[in-house]
Amino acid sequence: MFGAEAARRALAQELPALTELRRALHRTPSLSDEEQPTAERLLAWLGEHAPARTVRGLGGAGIAAVYDGAEPGPTVLLRAELDALPIAEPGHLAHASQIPGVSHKCGHDGHMAILAGVAKLVSRSPPAKGRVVLLFQPAEETGTGARAVVQDPKFAEIAPDYAFALHNLPGYPKASIAVRAGAFAAASEGLEIWLAGASSHASEPHLGKSPALALSQLIPALLALPAQLLPMDTGAAVAITHANLGEPSFGIAAGKARVQTTMRSSETADLERLMTAAERAAEGLGAAHGLEVTHARHDRFGATANDDDGARIVREAAKACGLACEGLPGPFPWSEDFGEILGTCRGAMFGVGAGPSCAPLHNEEYDFPDDILESGVLTMTTAASLALADEWAGRTPRDLPRAP
Ligand SMILES: [Zn+2]
Ligand SMILES: [Zn+2]
Repeated sequence: MFGAEAARRALAQELPALTELRRALHRTPSLSDEEQPTAERLLAWLGEHAPARTVRGLGGAGIAAVYDGAEPGPTVLLRAELDALPIAEPGHLAHASQIPGVSHKCGHDGHMAILAGVAKLVSRSPPAKGRVVLLFQPAEETGTGARAVVQDPKFAEIAPDYAFALHNLPGYPKASIAVRAGAFAAASEGLEIWLAGASSHASEPHLGKSPALALSQLIPALLALPAQLLPMDTGAAVAITHANLGEPSFGIAAGKARVQTTMRSSETADLERLMTAAERAAEGLGAAHGLEVTHARHDRFGATANDDDGARIVREAAKACGLACEGLPGPFPWSEDFGEILGTCRGAMFGVGAGPSCAPLHNEEYDFPDDILESGVLTMTTAASLALADEWAGRTPRDLPRAP
């Protein structure tokens, strides 16, 4: 495979085509679990520009492009996400979304274009030994895609020894790399709680069973859980995302209530403590107020945990590419489902700075900055090359226990 400098030279002539691809992907976004059109576009592009063996229908619309080396050896998997978000985009961009109410506000269009760039480089200079798998994963935004890919029987065809993924980071210096060993992104999960009593005429509240008092006690009880259960440095946080009580009327005393909350923590086990305690708190209040309580969990993301070797390889790749590399004092509070893939192998997720003037992720003004495509492609390609070399040297065979 290309060294970092040769890769930079080879990539220079590809950047206009990658920018064009990124903008084409931006114009035609797909929502989670509806990514077939985006997957088809990528398959067409890869078939035309960097042919490879492909695996289709991974965990839904997922596709993998497999670039085999001259000799068999270890597998390095690089991941990008296929999905966009249900956010309407203001129409002032030249490449604005043409799909009403859907747009790429997390930069997954850029991440896909970065892997397309890696495809160009790896197809021109394949590994001597082993193979590089480019995974375009569905349904990252809902937290279900990576798990579905790993549980798909076809995952055995691409099972990696090492895996890497990146996310662009608005606010961080443009094209700088950010990585840490250990937790990189938090675990999170949504909890929906229903309190059911009985409505009554507003003049006769004593004949009904209102959940109003229980609701008013449940919200502060949920918000207090992190401080009650966990040390301050665990990144534990609770957000109330929605609540309602009865109907918007003056004639009916409320008979039912619903609360939705999202809980997060740096460690998956700590998140489980928060979730279980929240369910018990709701049940306790329901019993105290004579209400029927039901609850359901949604959008579960495990923590994304980098191992020491994966983080080291990203730092070495950044250095080889001449990019600034920042350590991170702690994990990001947002969640990512790449942890599901890292649960099967070594590797790391890292950030690429999108610059201080880039709008925040999931903001309607956000647009992936095309001038960081180059650093994304170079870091991913170099990390893959270093990871293959690492496995060759036998320094980190996959049967060694993972770093604690
Ligand atoms: Zn997102
Ligand atoms: Zn994202």
